[in-house]
Amino acid sequence: MIIYMRTEATKEEVNKVVKRAKEYGNSCDISKGDQIVIGIKGPTQRISEGYFAELPGVERVFRISKKWKEVSREYHPRDTIVNVNGIEIGKGLVIIAGPCTVESKKQMLETAKMVKEYGAHMLRGGAWKPRTSTYEFQGLGEEGLEYLVEAKQETGLPIVTEIMGAELIPLFEKYSVDVYQVGARNCQNFHLLKALSGINKPVLLKRGPAVTVDEYLCAAEYLFAGNGIKGGNKSIILCERGIKTFETATRNTTDINAMAWIKRYSHLPVIGDPSHATGLRELVPDISRAMVAAGADGLIIEAHYDPENALVDGQQSIRQELEGIIKQCSAIYEVIHQERNL
Ligand code: PEP
Ligand code: MN
Repeated sequence: MIIYMRTEATKEEVNKVVKRAKEYGNSCDISKGDQIVIGIKGPTQRISEGYFAELPGVERVFRISKKWKEVSREYHPRDTIVNVNGIEIGKGLVIIAGPCTVESKKQMLETAKMVKEYGAHMLRGGAWKPRTSTYEFQGLGEEGLEYLVEAKQETGLPIVTEIMGAELIPLFEKYSVDVYQVGARNCQNFHLLKALSGINKPVLLKRGPAVTVDEYLCAAEYLFAGNGIKGGNKSIILCERGIKTFETATRNTTDINAMAWIKRYSHLPVIGDPSHATGLRELVPDISRAMVAAGADGLIIEAHYDPENALVDGQQSIRQELEGIIKQCSAIYEVIHQERNL
């Protein structure tokens, strides 16, 4: 249930609403801006809207019937900003770049230095890789985390890496992974999502290749809302990485509609992954620009110091093109956000 307070509502009036919500075993999220908005969560079906509407200072009361209440803009009208070691996702264009997979110490360090030089803000690289075939390279595991940490020490870039199962959380904590990536294949792994709803590190949730926007936001709700009343991880970043369609010219199809739709109806930051969306290095600059034009808060791009010899996803990995992409996308981002602020 959502309660919009009048702009002139006093602190006491807000406290009265909170007190009533708590009487029925609910808890409240208070969003402050020009107008105070109170989100009530818990067994709200036991209370009628009128119970709050009659209170002084209350302007409007309504129920959210969506299954993804807390990640909706109705619940939280302002943009959520996710802070990663001082880098704010949702406030300015954030670029995450690095190899698909951590292959060796040299590969990781060379690539990290390269993406830093071209202007990336964070470093990506998979230590555990979900591969379609069991015969393909699955990543270095813990050794991969060691190289990521070394690359972070060398460049200062926070690290983003994929967590394939809840049992890896202690290892991720040991290596102080900055952003836990949930890969497309695990988008609806509810056991993993529940486990990650209880950690205090940001989670980058990729959209599954055959997951609708509604199902995707339900998955995000698992992370954000936790068990409904308590807990929940409020640092969630969404990522459009292309979906399966009948098209075969590209690896996946970029769902630009979804990016714009989610930005409008959810308060969570949304980034784009032009590498997996296209699967083709030569399309990465074009689709990066399109994603930012559609409202992306950032991009996650596969880059490699020697893409021709990459063990995984070399055909979609870029090198010096990254510099131009960052320059062009920053300019597009500026134009869009100036317009929005007019
Ligand atoms: C990746 O980021 O390397 C990856 C495996 O992406 P996705 O989960 O989107 O396929
Ligand atoms: Mn990849």
